[in-house]
Amino acid sequence: MTSEPRRILPPVHAVIDQKSLADLIQAKGRDSVVQTVREVIEEMRRSLVIGDDVEVSVESIARLVSTRILTQRESLRCVINATGILLNTGLGRAPLATDAADAVHEITRGYCNLEFDLERGERGHRTQGVEALLNRLTGSEASAVVNNNAAATLIALRALASGREVIISRGQLIEIGGSFRLPEIFEVSGSRLREVGTTNKTRLEDYERAIGPDTAAILRVHPSNYRIVGFTEDVSIPALANLAHQHGLWMIDDIGSGAIAPGYPPLVRDEPTAVEGLEAGSDVILFSGDKLLGGPQCGILVGRSEPIAKIKKDPLMRAIRVDKMSIAALEATLRLLFDHSVANARLPLWKLLTTPVEVLRQRAELIAKVFRDSFALEADVLETTSFLGGGTTPTQSFPSVAVTLSSPFPSPWNTEAAFERALRRGDPAVVARLHGGSLLFDLKAMTVEEDRLLEKAVGKLIVSH
Ligand SMILES: *Cc1c(COP(=O)(O)O)cnc(C)c1O
Repeated sequence: MTSEPRRILPPVHAVIDQKSLADLIQAKGRDSVVQTVREVIEEMRRSLVIGDDVEVSVESIARLVSTRILTQRESLRCVINATGILLNTGLGRAPLATDAADAVHEITRGYCNLEFDLERGERGHRTQGVEALLNRLTGSEASAVVNNNAAATLIALRALASGREVIISRGQLIEIGGSFRLPEIFEVSGSRLREVGTTNKTRLEDYERAIGPDTAAILRVHPSNYRIVGFTEDVSIPALANLAHQHGLWMIDDIGSGAIAPGYPPLVRDEPTAVEGLEAGSDVILFSGDKLLGGPQCGILVGRSEPIAKIKKDPLMRAIRVDKMSIAALEATLRLLFDHSVANARLPLWKLLTTPVEVLRQRAELIAKVFRDSFALEADVLETTSFLGGGTTPTQSFPSVAVTLSSPFPSPWNTEAAFERALRRGDPAVVARLHGGSLLFDLKAMTVEEDRLLEKAVGKLIVSH
């Protein structure tokens, strides 16, 4: 074992001054190259500490630095979600089933029949296959798929109410994730917003009074990411749909999170579902593909033939259509949804939802033991509360278990915040939760396979100094 790595390793400036790095400094900026040199030297120092045989000449370090910078995956990377939030837009929402990822891999590596009918040898429709599956799953007459739910809302308002009024309750004028603001979507769609009621109370009479010759539709938006509690009053979908149809209006329902039917997915309460919405009389129901459905990013519209046909004919449809990767992933995901036990076993989100808390506790105990015994960390197990997130019912929580790390944290990461940052920048990146001086790894959104990866990621930061 080499005992004094500091003496053998060259200083950062000696590497930076290497001629071979000059072009890279020009292209990427001095700071970013210096940063990588520091990282490489630090890693070598650790390798030397544990007795690895590494070449420490300035030339070889410069070579490593330039290879690393040139081959770096710049932005999109795998992340271990230790936040306990199952659907986090920042972390890519629902993880795809292996079946869906495999379908993308297979379909996109060569050519495919995206818009070609193989039976007839003529032009086909790109979403025909997934539409048939959606109709079978939800009992809808027709369906359409677009880029995301914001696009679904936009096209529904445009195709069904452009130049006319749409009535919506004040309590449902939502903003989601800072970028989806309903009034702005209205503006872009060319339809006019007609707000009724108050933030906490809207009655059927409020809607009825607002109906005039210019009214085209009633819109219900599931207030996903917030909840008004206390004295609230809302009108049920059957009552709203009934009123809409009496006056020849469309009933549009944005259910947001995309639960198919009660129990699909399991354990999720208080979320409107597509099947119930159709039964209640909605003409068009909108939802996201990458929330509770557990599929790729897309916006799904299901409903009656007439409004869906109007929507599909709108020229904007061409600008918001889904690509072959999303279609491949969506088809594979939808096929899993026909059988409850298949979906529970193969859809990652559903599997995470149904993992018993006792299992989480056992896994947490094992991880905490490794942290304590192998890395000499101050680790413990804590009962936590995890959430669905992703613009779903904010009040719905699940009992969960987390592994905690508390001070002392190993040098040079002497605080929980510094340790959290190092893990976030590590490989794989770990996104954990800071909580009252501790670092929390909530297991609710983690698979068993990721337990070992988490241990490895933490272990990498611990190698003795
Ligand atoms: C999430 C959500 C949206 C936005 O969906 P995207 O697929 O992100 O465009 C719109 N409405 C509701 C009610 C939502 O929950």
